[in-house]
Amino acid sequence: MDIPFAGVIFILGAAIGSFLNVCIYRLPRGLSLITPSSHCPFCKTTIKWYTNIPLFGYILLRGKCRYCHNKISFRYPFIELITGLIFVSLFKLYGPTPACLIYFILIASLIVVAWIDMDFYIIPDAISLPGIVIGFLSSVFILNLNWLDSLLGIALGGGSLLSIALIYQLIRNKEGMGMGDVKLLAMIGAFLGWRSIIFIIIASSFLGSIIGATYLMFSKEDSSKQIPFGPFISIATILYIFFEKQIINSYINYF
Ligand SMILES: [Zn+2]
Repeated sequence: MDIPFAGVIFILGAAIGSFLNVCIYRLPRGLSLITPSSHCPFCKTTIKWYTNIPLFGYILLRGKCRYCHNKISFRYPFIELITGLIFVSLFKLYGPTPACLIYFILIASLIVVAWIDMDFYIIPDAISLPGIVIGFLSSVFILNLNWLDSLLGIALGGGSLLSIALIYQLIRNKEGMGMGDVKLLAMIGAFLGWRSIIFIIIASSFLGSIIGATYLMFSKEDSSKQIPFGPFISIATILYIFFEKQIINSYINYF
């Protein structure tokens, strides 16, 4: 892939990242994704098209609203940046194939899920439930994943977390893991098949305990504070998409 072409793919990805920012802000607040056009969250002034260009707009405004001078969160350019980089990396790995597009759609939904979960401790059904159906249909008809593999992925993804959640609830008598995580993992299983779920559960629990413990150690907040699990599931899934072959090979070597 030559540099100008990679640049075009990056800009396309960053523009979609800009739309993901809109979804992250508006979905959990029950706002329309289409209207009104982007505006400053503080003074509500509509953002001019040239300052709405991904990344470039943020740099042009030096991270401040042009009208009320309130700081624009760094997450906006950050999400645009990672979405662009992920699109380029997927394209490099899969080329112009349907798989590239489907994995991009999956990762884009995971980015939205992870940030909404960090903000509100919820994973919207509006993403995970249609995601289960879309995941199943696309793995069977486009990715040539065996239908049983996808179906087992849904069952294992939903079932394993559901049982962990129920056991936890039984022992600790409080909800440790939300049903949102259960539906999210079922969706991922639909896209990636049952083998992915084993890795994703192990990797996300590992990441979650390390990062969670570090966070609690250094933050002043009390330790009963809930830590969202969606971001860890999302990171583990992205790792799986990029390193699937290596991960499956290490399973085979291990067993
Ligand atoms: Zn403003």
